[in-house]
Amino acid sequence: MFIKKVVLKNFKSFGKKTEIPFIDGFVVISGPNGSGKSNIIDSILFCLGLTPSTKQLRADRLTDLIHNGKNEAEVTVVFQSGNKSYEVTRKVKITDKGYYSYYYLNGKSTNLSEIHKFLSQFGIYSDAYNVVMQGDVTRITEMSPLQRRKIIDDIAGISEFDEKREKRT
Ligand code: ATP
Ligand code: MG
Repeated sequence: MFIKKVVLKNFKSFGKKTEIPFIDGFVVISGPNGSGKSNIIDSILFCLGLTPSTKQLRADRLTDLIHNGKNEAEVTVVFQSGNKSYEVTRKVKITDKGYYSYYYLNGKSTNLSEIHKFLSQFGIYSDAYNVVMQGDVTRITEMSPLQRRKIIDDIAGISEFDEKREKRT
């Protein structure tokens, strides 16, 4: 499974509808400082609801993700798995009553827990290491060996068994 495409509408610095194609394999995004590279990562995390806090999207509020002066932002992530393709969309909208966030799976309105359930079949979890953010590597190198071992156990799926064993005893 891989991300085939990301479509941004009024997300952060992307004031015009922008389609970013990806390929199956290693993809690098390069560009000058401030050109929006990190915003692309933020958009994927936002769309898939992978960060517990908007702070991790480098925004104080969800509405800060909307391109300046607009009242709605939308991101779609298109996955390709074999010959099937799947679409996750998230929208944040400002109305006169406040702001609202909406999720869609393959065009049908849904909620975050359904999105997470959908992603888990591909091994994508909000508390996993699918996404390594700036600073994470430094944090990991500065950890104690025991803390670092815990991360490896988490990734390898060993922690799950440790937890089950602890519950039993
Ligand atoms: P660097 O190489 O320094 O890491 P980058 O390519 O990762 O840069 P980003 O951090 O993705 O750049 O983009 C930063 C730009 O996004 C800033 O110019 C900022 O003003 C702009 N930006 C962030 N939020 C919004 C918004 N809501 N509306 C318009 N522009 C925004
Ligand atoms: Mg950056």
